[in-house]
Amino acid sequence: MSLGLMTPIHPKWDDFLDRLEGPDGCNFRDVVRNGKKDSTWDCDNTPNRPIARKHLAALGATSQEIEQSLGFFHAFGGHCDCEIAFNVQDSFESYMGRGRRRRNP
Ligand SMILES: [Zn+2]
Repeated sequence: MSLGLMTPIHPKWDDFLDRLEGPDGCNFRDVVRNGKKDSTWDCDNTPNRPIARKHLAALGATSQEIEQSLGFFHAFGGHCDCEIAFNVQDSFESYMGRGRRRRNP
């Protein structure tokens, strides 16, 4: 069975984000820089988004579903792996929120 289009309303979205942000993904972590707590992560800053591709494939996405999901992420601000974690859910929810307000002014 294939995965379908990965979006914030997909049943495996949280699982996907956990993998994307975790040690086998961008590996978001706290560090100390110049005596101050900071955070860091790994991202190649390219639209190829190898980490997202890897985890979509691991979750069972077909290559076509991977391309479609990456297109969706791009439309909602996920232009590289870390931006998927930072932007997609928030911009998707604000997009959906605006839609609701337009229907019920
Ligand atoms: Zn990035």
